[in-house]
Amino acid sequence: MAKKVVIDPGHGGEDPGTSANGIVEKDYTLKISEYMADRLTELGIENALTRDSDVTLDSTTRPKTAQSLFGTGSDVILVSNHINAGGGDGAEIIYALRNSDALSSKIASEFIKSGQNVRKYYQRRLPSNSSKDYYYIIRETPNNESIIVEYGFADSTGDDVNQIKNNWEELAEAVVRALADYIGVAYIPPEGAEGNYYTVKAGDTLYGIASKYGISVDELKAANNLSSNTLTIGKVLVIPQVEEPETPDENIYTVKSGDTLYSIANKYGMTVNELKALNNLTSNTLSIGQKLVVSEGNAATLDTYTVKSGDTLYSIANKYGLTVNELKSLNNLTSDLLSIGQVLNVSNSAVTPTPTNTYTVKSGDSLYSIAKQYGVTVDALKSANGKTSNLLSIGEVLVIPTTTTSTRTYIVKAGDSLWKIATNYGVSVNALKQANGLSSDLLSIGQVLVIP
Ligand SMILES: [Zn+2]
Repeated sequence: MAKKVVIDPGHGGEDPGTSANGIVEKDYTLKISEYMADRLTELGIENALTRDSDVTLDSTTRPKTAQSLFGTGSDVILVSNHINAGGGDGAEIIYALRNSDALSSKIASEFIKSGQNVRKYYQRRLPSNSSKDYYYIIRETPNNESIIVEYGFADSTGDDVNQIKNNWEELAEAVVRALADYIGVAYIPPEGAEGNYYTVKAGDTLYGIASKYGISVDELKAANNLSSNTLTIGKVLVIPQVEEPETPDENIYTVKSGDTLYSIANKYGMTVNELKALNNLTSNTLSIGQKLVVSEGNAATLDTYTVKSGDTLYSIANKYGLTVNELKSLNNLTSDLLSIGQVLNVSNSAVTPTPTNTYTVKSGDSLYSIAKQYGVTVDALKSANGKTSNLLSIGEVLVIPTTTTSTRTYIVKAGDSLWKIATNYGVSVNALKQANGLSSDLLSIGQVLVIP
């Protein structure tokens, strides 16, 4: 039997719910719910609202009304819409003790795609009877698949006030996408929606569709939360926007107040020496507004230095943290003579003695936690120790590989998604997840990601 949806706009009438920053909960839950009802109807999903005006529904009437619409069966999904309060930031989804997190996790992923961060999706138990759900709308609608969606915090100091006021339609649409996917109905975007969509036809493959739009299969899968390569005819796929090819200007960084050579180098995954070499800087002084050539991870062009008038082997060696002998041996120089325009190899990674770091495994350690601590990948750690499995024994001594390039990290901001971050760094979503040991697509603001 096709699933039906009861939409419950939280609060109403004499019960305004939470109220902060010009957001009155009962008004937003009604707007969101009415939008959702229209959209579900467009998609052919049977639905009904517990209220469609500013009326009071008490804790007895509300669940009764909800179950009067399509009954008490498990084929009914009840979505109770709310705005949170308490000073947090991000969406939350609460699901019933009787249900799995399948629907909640889909909603969470869709929120992230729509630019809203998710704090958690979870079950909450009644303290006086832990076999029962905490929230009455879930507890008193037995057998229905009941969830509470908290779209954000009205009293957030983060971006939630803006998310609720200006992005509420997109957030409601995110729940619509999750419901369509969960129920198994083809999703059709609202009219005038931004972004590209593609409807799967007979004979299509993920690879074929990805190629057509110039994206990778991984990107296409990530944008659509696909865990397998199987496509169903008629399924509407979101086509992620491809970034414009880099123009030379994007390799120029303009120095801002507070910048240091180190902070800029770090931002682009370069060493300070590489940044200085690339810009022929002789001192560490920067001026605001100064334009620097930056190159992301493009080490090949950074390892040479062109000799200028006045240079000596000593001045060049010093500049790159090399000894004169190291510089000479790097370039097979037999004399100390330099000629202007001569190109020298100044890569110091080849000559820097690699200190051997070791780590003794303690209780509670994992390859991932150790790799993360040292800013190396799990794979690098395994190969440095000749390990084929992920098993560790306490007391085991691991060699920590040294990284030749500085580890790039990224701190998750509001609105980020794995896909967006992966695209920015030119890595695949899977590689990003693997480098950080992520098993889901959920991110939290402030989370530090290792960029592979
Ligand atoms: Zn509420």
